[in-house]
Amino acid sequence: MSKSVLFSDITIVTPHDDAPVSVCEHAYCAVAGNAIVYVGDSKEEAEAALSGMGDVSYETYDGTNKILCPTFANAHAHTPMTIFRNIADDKSLQDWLFGEILPREDKMVPDDFYYGNLLTLAEMISSGTGCCANMYTGSVQIAKGCVEAGFRIQQSVDGKRCQDGNWSVDRENVQELLSYIADIQSDLVKPSLIVHSIYLYPEYFYSRIADLAREYSLPITVHISETIRENEDCVRQYGCSPVKKLDSFGFLTDTTVAAHCVHLSDEDRSILADRKVWVAHNPGSNMKLASGVADMAAMQKAGVRLCLGTDGAASNNNQDMYWEMRLASFLAKGTTYDPTVLPAEEVFKMATRNGYLACGFDDCGIIEKGMRADIQIIDYDCPQMWPLGNPLSALVYSCGPRCVESVMIDGRFVLRNRELLTIDMEKVKAETKAIMQRLQ
Ligand SMILES: [Zn+2]
Repeated sequence: MSKSVLFSDITIVTPHDDAPVSVCEHAYCAVAGNAIVYVGDSKEEAEAALSGMGDVSYETYDGTNKILCPTFANAHAHTPMTIFRNIADDKSLQDWLFGEILPREDKMVPDDFYYGNLLTLAEMISSGTGCCANMYTGSVQIAKGCVEAGFRIQQSVDGKRCQDGNWSVDRENVQELLSYIADIQSDLVKPSLIVHSIYLYPEYFYSRIADLAREYSLPITVHISETIRENEDCVRQYGCSPVKKLDSFGFLTDTTVAAHCVHLSDEDRSILADRKVWVAHNPGSNMKLASGVADMAAMQKAGVRLCLGTDGAASNNNQDMYWEMRLASFLAKGTTYDPTVLPAEEVFKMATRNGYLACGFDDCGIIEKGMRADIQIIDYDCPQMWPLGNPLSALVYSCGPRCVESVMIDGRFVLRNRELLTIDMEKVKAETKAIMQRLQ
């Protein structure tokens, strides 16, 4: 078990479920085991909370010129895709996916998933992210790396098999991940089921994969209405939008994470809001692939639940949630000519608490007593952040990975003074470079 920590005289910025984001200066946060046991302005009460847990010896973390806030939960990622970073750019989604990515993915072996994922985790942790919803195959190799690195993940599993053009469900693959999760007895990994999109499978297969999701009570992770072409093809083939067609199979529920949702009708937004689907906004990827700009103002107005993702590193080309927060807010303002749309408070909550809820980790993403200790420490003693001004604005509009000093996940430091503690970067760099060269 990790040593208890008292974050002392620090600025705490945190969302809440039923209150606005709060900023508390000269505050204290005590962590024992994997949980937050005290948050407030009294050093004595923080110490008493720790000694009440039986901890007479604990570490004091000096909070001078530091901000403490929740780690980010990236709600849409494809973690092994860092090995395809910067090798297929400036192409349409169709040319990029079918011409560049899928042929390379066909050649991947288990170690490729493992090391590609670890490279992404290193980047995510270094930029303040403590969790992601990951849509990719190689589930057990990825989950194994996450447990070793101490990283929280909603890891998807691929429930399909395709032989000679015949599609069938792959129960063994699902059971392999579920058995692995049961065996490791770790709270860090939760499962989901991939439904890639409405355009990748034959129609008859969607109802079968829906039955599989129900059989194992698996949340769905899916891409929806990423491009105009996806919508046009869906209307031509099925006579309705991707949202309506996916809904007809029962894929849209309050545990579903739907990435993109760039091209929606009012009716689509109303369905997503009614079903309480989590929509993962991916502004960087949508801009790079020229897919368009998701209408966040309209989604908010319709009551859609919103979170934030980076998408894979092959289409972004990094995993930096600070960058994504800025893009989300700036695009929403710039496309509506309204600077009040998607203010710092809302985009910060999308990136933190909402992301954790979307990933199924209900006890993370808020700095409150009783929540899991998933925490990042920002050093604002740097030109980029000085003078601090409003700490919440500073986090969303000024901050970046270089300001992330330390990251704790489930009460364990995984980054300390900008040094990764759970990932052997030299090994990961050597392996992923060799993989990238092999898959060229
Ligand atoms: Zn994606």
